[in-house]
Amino acid sequence: MFEDGVDAEEYIAAVRAGAIDPYGRTADELQESLDAYDRDWTERLMALTEEQLDEVVAGRMPLPALPGPIESEHAARFRAESEFVGRARALEVQTARLEAAKRELYAARFARLADEPGVFDTNLHETASNLAVELRLSDRTMERRMIAASRMVSELPLAHDAHRAGRINSGHLRTIEQATEALRLDATVDAGERARVEQELVAMAETTTPGQLRSRAKRIVDRVLTEPFQQRHDRARETREVFLQDEGDGMAFLGVRCLAVAAKAAYNRATDAARRKPKDDPRTFDQYRADVVMDLLTRGQVPDDVNGVHGVNGITATVALTIPATALLREPASDGSGRQELFPALLDDEILVDVDTVRMLAAETVTWERLFLHPVTGVPVTVDTYRPNRAMRRWLRARDGRCRWPGCNNPVYRADVDHTHDWDAGGATTIGNLAHLCRRHHTMKHATAWTVQQLEDGVLEFTSPLGVVLRSEPEHQGPAFVDTDDIIWGTIACTQPSLPNAPPPLNTPF
Ligand SMILES: [Zn+2]
Repeated sequence: MFEDGVDAEEYIAAVRAGAIDPYGRTADELQESLDAYDRDWTERLMALTEEQLDEVVAGRMPLPALPGPIESEHAARFRAESEFVGRARALEVQTARLEAAKRELYAARFARLADEPGVFDTNLHETASNLAVELRLSDRTMERRMIAASRMVSELPLAHDAHRAGRINSGHLRTIEQATEALRLDATVDAGERARVEQELVAMAETTTPGQLRSRAKRIVDRVLTEPFQQRHDRARETREVFLQDEGDGMAFLGVRCLAVAAKAAYNRATDAARRKPKDDPRTFDQYRADVVMDLLTRGQVPDDVNGVHGVNGITATVALTIPATALLREPASDGSGRQELFPALLDDEILVDVDTVRMLAAETVTWERLFLHPVTGVPVTVDTYRPNRAMRRWLRARDGRCRWPGCNNPVYRADVDHTHDWDAGGATTIGNLAHLCRRHHTMKHATAWTVQQLEDGVLEFTSPLGVVLRSEPEHQGPAFVDTDDIIWGTIACTQPSLPNAPPPLNTPF
């Protein structure tokens, strides 16, 4: 088990002091296997007769192995799988620790540059070029990495520590870095608040995949940015543009930076058109959809749009809006704080939309559904609509948000509604026994040793073939309002979640 010539106790002490075991084992694991080795050795000697012992001592007989308990084929597979999974996890932890060590090294070097004589930028170029030669990368790349490392260590110390400890992986770290960029640039957000958000994101990263973290992080960060969403949106919408990028092989990428609502509507329209692709058309779904978009752009008419906002006029699809119950009931803030507009509305459960756009769409729209969120937890509580079956589906979509499989981020519109307890086996068609699973995970649930149970409030409990139990909570759609000053109406809505048409006193649709 240990290399020849290395004393096991010394080796374990070294690992305990921070040395890295090439197999990712911890000092405790090493100690445990050393103890087991000693126990085994002692037991084998004890099992020998006096005569056999003499033979072993004289070197005429090898020490016989103990007859171990017979392992079933199933137990052997299970053990091998556990070992494989454990080894992979140990390597991940080790990789994270090395990446963090590299980041610290770069950051420390970057910090020292400030104390060195000469021009800072020139010194940075020179150091980066030395690194570049050694690592066979460009000096620009090395410079960017040094700057990024320095920022990470100084601006996101909690995330950096969590990564070094192997509690989160580099995907999580990148997600936190990207999600907090606006927050770190906003000088009006105080340091304590920034640290609190970082802490919340790190805690979340410890139980989610980077994909899940990304969608939730956006909302958490939006909540604390002091500039109201409407103002940020008004500024951002000025950056609308079309860009063209050569992709080689006679192909190009045509992009439009535009209002999220318009992008979503255009995308949905092209998708709907592609769904009606004739069966004998040899093009794939994606090819057909791309052709639809280009046909519309090259042959469609440019609208004569004088009064409205280009790209939003003409959208009359059913708009499903998610609105915190409290935001519905408030007049716009008179103090200019825009607090209730921090979370104005969600389009199709994923894109934040500003109130102005929402008002304009609602005025044009014939069908729309309102989804009420619990004002404290942000979990959907009810939907008001006149079609109960549809309401139930809508309710489930809102509750689940994603495929409910642990770690899966597939949106509900690409998922099946699964009977948690199989319908064939007597499972009921009720909200408490239904949950969204994407096709892949729907199949996996039925074809493998995974088991699923539905607990209260839409919480699902998954048990892996290796016996690991994972909880999957319903997706939180909205913000969790923490202050309780003026949420009386919202509280009523949430204590009577079964009220089909809880009537908020509305002057406008919002
Ligand atoms: Zn899935």
